[in-house]
Amino acid sequence: MRYCRFNFENSIHYGRVEDRGGELWIVDLAEAPEEDLAFRLAHGRATSWSFDFEPIALHAADLLPPVTPSKIVCVGRNYREHAKELGNEAPAEPLLFFKPTSSLLGPGGTILLPAASERVDFEGELALVIGKRVRKLKADADWRPVIRGYTLANDVTARDLQKKDGQWARAKGFDTFCAVGPLVGDEIDPAAGVTIETRVNGELRQHGSTADFIFTIPELLAWITAAFTLEPGDLILTGTPAGVGPLAPGDRVDVAIPGLGVLSNLVARDL
Ligand code: MG
Repeated sequence: MRYCRFNFENSIHYGRVEDRGGELWIVDLAEAPEEDLAFRLAHGRATSWSFDFEPIALHAADLLPPVTPSKIVCVGRNYREHAKELGNEAPAEPLLFFKPTSSLLGPGGTILLPAASERVDFEGELALVIGKRVRKLKADADWRPVIRGYTLANDVTARDLQKKDGQWARAKGFDTFCAVGPLVGDEIDPAAGVTIETRVNGELRQHGSTADFIFTIPELLAWITAAFTLEPGDLILTGTPAGVGPLAPGDRVDVAIPGLGVLSNLVARDL
């Protein structure tokens, strides 16, 4: 099952996404995930929608972030080559930080470069979408039922402020610094290794595989849920491969994993 969330005629909908001849289309409306309370209060039961739905090409839809998380948990330095490129040791334990939900940005949205930073980097990442409330999951437990699916994320980072502030709240947390989408899909298997690529203006900048994670998905889930309860809809950004670099006004940045579409965003100065 693959689904997205989008605006259509001034209201929010969930849509089922299908591959039609190599292109992704929204082919039907989908039921909202149970955690999307605002959506459910506005629409009542999903089956009450009555308008005729004509398929829309995914790239032509007014897409929103496909999730409405209560929190966004991020993993730093989960690929050896990326830790090395920034002069860091590979961590002995998972390194966690948060991004605020106010930093969420949908597919096609514009990443805004804040005046406070002189260097804002892209970080293409696989994100896990949690499907069940979970705490204290054991590393050897069956973790797959906890995951609703996967999506793409860009963990946009003000690199200079990350160093200057010590705490990463500002560097990782500006508005628009958490681009996610375009869809949630459960038909890939990151534990077996999926390819993740980031392009800037069409040029390949990051090419990694989730097979190179320092900490595996069950190890991350055990570490994270030992500290916080995860709620349905919560996002876990699993870290970025090597090749991070700065963004400039006018750039277009694309993050892609086969089966999850392409997360594409433009970049502009925040005036
Ligand atoms: Mg990151």
